[in-house]
Amino acid sequence: MAKLHILKEGDETLRKISRPVEVITPRILTLLDDMLETMRAAQGCGLAGPQVGVLRRVVVIEVEEGKPIELINPKIIAFSGEQEGPEGCLSIPGKWGMTKRPEHVTVRALDRSGKPFELSGSGLLARAFCHEIDHLDGKLFTDIATSIETE
Ligand code: ZN
Repeated sequence: MAKLHILKEGDETLRKISRPVEVITPRILTLLDDMLETMRAAQGCGLAGPQVGVLRRVVVIEVEEGKPIELINPKIIAFSGEQEGPEGCLSIPGKWGMTKRPEHVTVRALDRSGKPFELSGSGLLARAFCHEIDHLDGKLFTDIATSIETE
């Protein structure tokens, strides 16, 4: 595994739309491994392809320690409720913003063997699903934050 460089706000790549993964190659699997290592080293709870300069629809999330979630081509298929809370991003270090997100979110994605699966999350996990999938569409939390605080 290798640690990857995380792009920071202002880099144009973060504003681009990522392409779906068509074939899950060994390269994609290595990318997922490297993204997980990079996210953990940076003490984040989510990381998306564009953040490491790869415009592919891949996401890693770990809101519960030791239980990483890998999503290939994730889509939000259902959401409900509302939560408001502080949100940060490894690409925007030192900044926090208050955002509104759904309280419950269900995603559909492929696992590393290419099998489709669905996963539902509430609270922090629901927030992470939204935040990371936004990255795949070139969106950052600062676009929707009602206030931004600098550490
Ligand atoms: Zn982020």
